[in-house]
Amino acid sequence: MHELGITQSIVEIALRTAAGQQAQKIHSVTLEVGSLAGVVSDALQFCYEACSKETLLEGSRLIIDEVPARARCRDCATEYPLTDLLACCPACESVASDLLCGEEMRIKEMEID
Ligand SMILES: [Zn+2]
Repeated sequence: MHELGITQSIVEIALRTAAGQQAQKIHSVTLEVGSLAGVVSDALQFCYEACSKETLLEGSRLIIDEVPARARCRDCATEYPLTDLLACCPACESVASDLLCGEEMRIKEMEID
């Protein structure tokens, strides 16, 4: 389950950020996850609860903001949302495309006191 490793690094970054801002309490952490990042939200939530125990993050909410993947057609430069990796360009039906976003995962914002 690779969600555990991912969650551990999220928790680590969140705690470091909170410490840097001298936070007393963290209310929520919003995570931006590309739709092709290949993580399961439920698993992330579950791991987050486990990893945040007895830290400043305990009791905070993990909000997962899924960002749809986008691709640009190499033949006609049309940009389109990518629902799966086998999608083709809606304008010219070419399958040659560059992925613009969709595999990223980062902390978008944190609500702290
Ligand atoms: Zn095209």
